[in-house]
Amino acid sequence: MSHLLQNSQKSITKAIFLDRDGTLNVDYNYVSDPDKIHPIDGAREAIEIFICQEFLLFLFTNQPGIEQKIYTKEDVEACNQRIIELLGNPHFTEICIASEATHAPEHYRKPSPRFINEMVDKYRLERSKCYMIGDKETDALAGLNAGIHGILLESAYPQSPQCQQLIREGKILVFKNLLDFAQNI
Ligand SMILES: [Mg+2]
Repeated sequence: MSHLLQNSQKSITKAIFLDRDGTLNVDYNYVSDPDKIHPIDGAREAIEIFICQEFLLFLFTNQPGIEQKIYTKEDVEACNQRIIELLGNPHFTEICIASEATHAPEHYRKPSPRFINEMVDKYRLERSKCYMIGDKETDALAGLNAGIHGILLESAYPQSPQCQQLIREGKILVFKNLLDFAQNI
């Protein structure tokens, strides 16, 4: 088999699972208006780095406002489309919108690892080369629960003692923002 053929058959096994609000775009709480989507500084550059490094990209967003009837799934999809445009139209392999209300039983809602586990199986990803990153501890915990890396942004809301312990133990890594993570991955 030629070297060229081997390369063309190489499948990508590493991935970044990205939270949306507070990670890619400014979170003003229950984001639902595409005209009010503003990318966080450095997010676009970070995505370019991930693509250059040949990571698959997944968007994984909790949107309890859907079941709480604050906005619709169509509103969320319009916001997703807007942030993707503002990021330079990167390709997201799959997008998960977890619509469960805040205190409803978790199916896909982070920290549930269900979506990540499904994607790892479907795309034959290597867990040791996959990262879940976000601005809430539930993002990082979803990653750990799926056996991939859990990454938290410094802007994370006050963390539980359990999360603080995981950070001290080095099981959750903390970065200043998405670009800082991309530059140090
Ligand atoms: Mg968030």
